[in-house]
Amino acid sequence: MNKEELMIIKQKALENHIPIIMDDTLDVIAKILKEIKPNKILEIGTAVGYSAMCFSEYLQDGGIIDTIERDEERIEEAKQNFIKVGVHNKIHLYEGDAVDILPTLDEEYDVVFIDAAKGKYPFFLEQALRMLKDKGVIIADNVLYKGYVMSDYNKHKQRTAVRNLREYIARVNEDANLDTEILEVGDGLAVSYKK
Ligand code: SAH
Ligand code: MG
Repeated sequence: MNKEELMIIKQKALENHIPIIMDDTLDVIAKILKEIKPNKILEIGTAVGYSAMCFSEYLQDGGIIDTIERDEERIEEAKQNFIKVGVHNKIHLYEGDAVDILPTLDEEYDVVFIDAAKGKYPFFLEQALRMLKDKGVIIADNVLYKGYVMSDYNKHKQRTAVRNLREYIARVNEDANLDTEILEVGDGLAVSYKK
């Protein structure tokens, strides 16, 4: 993998205000992936492919990342980026809305990374659980959403997102088949291991 090219892509994404994974969040996920050595990863929310390319380093030989993105411009950029970095044979991009695509998938994943529309997190969780292997892990980014989720301030214009993020956290905490930790890295990271 061409790391120099990956760093150029990261800089460009930051300059263009594309919400790519934060460094401290990536460090935490990298540790988890090193332990799991995943064969299949599902990512919801590709953007320009930065996180998927970072994760691809931790795949087993022959492993694959399936990633989903609905924004056409970002889809085109991600595809070019995968080729530039030399990881196009490890990453499969599904083009379209994850709400439509997820129900059509019937695969088994070691890791699911949720990093897309916050209002859809409970639905993404249901779909992730349907396809997660035993001992697999579901990782959800932005679950604390700038602190709104844990505050009692409900009048924010993003209240639908906040309500659904709270529901996500409640569900992963209540699910007896999951061991969940909510980490205050980046914008909040929920890590849920399936027993
Ligand atoms: N994981 C990326 C960042 C993703 S940003 C990284 O760290 O590099 C979130 C992305 O999710 C955006 O590009 C947005 O277009 C996409 N997205 C949001 N809701 C979606 C949905 N319902 N289906 C598919 N993509 C979605
Ligand atoms: Mg994110």
